[in-house]
Amino acid sequence: MPHFKFNIRDILFILNEQLNYGSLCVLPRYQGLNAKTLDLMVNESARFAKKVVAPLQEIGEANGVTFSRGRVSCPKEFKDAFALYGENGWIAAARDTRYGGQGFPHMMRIVINDLMYGACQSFNMAPSLTHGAAHLIETFAGEELKERFVPKCYAGDWSGTMCLTEPDAGSNLGNIRTSAARHGDQFKIKGIKTFISWGEHDLTENIVHLVLARINGAPGGVKGLSLFIVPKIRVNDDASLGPENDVRCINIEKKLGLHASPTCTLEFGARDDCIGYLCGTENQGLAHMFQMMNAARINTGVSGMAIAGTAYLNALAYARKRIQGKDICRNTPDDVPIIRHPDIRRMLLWMKASVDGMRSMIYTGAFWSDLAHELEDGDEKNHYRHLVDFITPIIKAFCADTGFAVCETAIQCLGGYGYCQDFPLEQYLRDVKIMSLYEGTNGIQSIDLMGRKMTANGGAPFRAFTHEIETFCKKNRRHPALGKQVQCLEKTFNEIFRGVMKINDLRKTDPACWGSVTYPALLCFGELIMAWRLLDMAVISARLSEQKGKNHFYTGKILQATWYTDVTLPHTRTRIASCLRKGQEIADMPEAAF
Ligand SMILES: Cc1cc2nc3c(=O)[nH]c(=O)nc-3n(C[C@H](O)[C@H](O)[C@H](O)COP(=O)(O)OP(=O)(O)OC[C@H]3O[C@@H](n4cnc5c(N)ncnc54)[C@H](O)[C@@H]3O)c2cc1C
Repeated sequence: MPHFKFNIRDILFILNEQLNYGSLCVLPRYQGLNAKTLDLMVNESARFAKKVVAPLQEIGEANGVTFSRGRVSCPKEFKDAFALYGENGWIAAARDTRYGGQGFPHMMRIVINDLMYGACQSFNMAPSLTHGAAHLIETFAGEELKERFVPKCYAGDWSGTMCLTEPDAGSNLGNIRTSAARHGDQFKIKGIKTFISWGEHDLTENIVHLVLARINGAPGGVKGLSLFIVPKIRVNDDASLGPENDVRCINIEKKLGLHASPTCTLEFGARDDCIGYLCGTENQGLAHMFQMMNAARINTGVSGMAIAGTAYLNALAYARKRIQGKDICRNTPDDVPIIRHPDIRRMLLWMKASVDGMRSMIYTGAFWSDLAHELEDGDEKNHYRHLVDFITPIIKAFCADTGFAVCETAIQCLGGYGYCQDFPLEQYLRDVKIMSLYEGTNGIQSIDLMGRKMTANGGAPFRAFTHEIETFCKKNRRHPALGKQVQCLEKTFNEIFRGVMKINDLRKTDPACWGSVTYPALLCFGELIMAWRLLDMAVISARLSEQKGKNHFYTGKILQATWYTDVTLPHTRTRIASCLRKGQEIADMPEAAF
């Protein structure tokens, strides 16, 4: 039975009824598109994900990748799928047509990735990284380099990577030691990068590495980093391939999950002959790289949610079929499907609400990002920019951890069978764990949220977010069916707001205490946003139920929202209060006492 399950109606409900994504088509960049063409795109990507990408999940797990003499080989099916992915335009669906994109809204990239990551995470990392790397070149490089590299990547002829991490530079990129020596109008790159996803493989004839390195003589720390385009095979001016560049894969990791995604150690310039091209401005490398990192952070949240989505639906399918135990109410003398047991229903409802809430959170952020990119300069555009800034670390960290928790709960629903390879859940659990680690660990995300995002632009990101929540609460606090929960949301937000103000003060007065509560504070925001998005869907469903008549779909949206809000937000309020307690155990604990 195919492992990949998704509910297209849930996806389209958020896109159409909740966000009205067709409204983006009034923006100048999207004129010529409409809600119908966007829906068509969603349905088509679902078809491709199911037919072409989903079968790779088991093939990749069974065969993995092989490493020999500096070369990585992947299953043939991966190569064929990558070629088709490029040919069908999925890599650059949301990029401008000038370099081979299809000109769809930016948010379509997120919707496509939702389906493709759910179908096979380890595969979809390759086209997703390719998109990110080529988009960096498109945004920051000179015209000649764009022409040379971008169309080949968008077409799927070549792939791309992001090369940041080094053995001594993980969370702290200021330690990067890879160097760049001037060589005419090019650079010679030298250094070692570790953990590079899809850093070497045989899916494409060339690989374009986007490398952070320090030009000799540049300042230390992150301020001296520049961004370079470093191809595996050198590229002539006319974009034809030249000789091999001096880039060598010297190791691939043996790891918990993602067995079909090679995680490579790359050595640049062992023979002092690795040519790189400056991309953008000298010493602005990290600022440029943030475009790719922010997109990758959102995509990490997408992955957590997408894998959780298929895990939930697999658990649901099993719970409908598995006969075990008596009905607790004794409505029938026979053993019943386990979906009748309240404890299983509790887990299913939590997973359903979690997946739907995460999807809505992510799509909302993606919708904002289109407005942030495409509106004319002014207050409204700035408002959406601030919102995207604010929600990015929450999407990354909250959806990574909640995605993992959903996969774990899905295994629990199946009992012992969930732990075994006959079902896809144990692989999901292993694959999804990485989301809390890469693209900046979740701890680092929480520091970003409670640090930079609270203070940047005089606190504008948090103010923009506050405005959104307050507007929703004001509008819906007297809702006949959902008013009680909206008031609960409002009360929780007010307590978080007051708590956050005090936590912000701690940053200066007691940084050790501040650093020990950033992560729980991020969770509070995550739960609050989940309740907000679920309640918003419930309000819409209540209205549609009145207009069109009740049905299970709308009832499900309402019940998941009331339950999630009532059951989760009291814990959220306790958590934010606990961040402010006077105890200092975390800071005071002597290292020898751990
Ligand atoms: C499968 C896989 C794929 C990857 N793909 C890529 C890739 O394509 N490109 C790439 O460049 N990198 C990639 N990475 C690297 C990944 O981004 C790093 O592993 C990650 O950034 C963390 O760095 P680290 O492992 O060195 O951990 P460390 O930085 O050593 O962190 C260890 C722990 O300490 C915490 N910590 C560190 N500093 C602080 C601090 N200042 N305050 C509080 N806590 C702190 C962290 O949160 C973490 O819990 C990949 C990693 C893996 C495992």
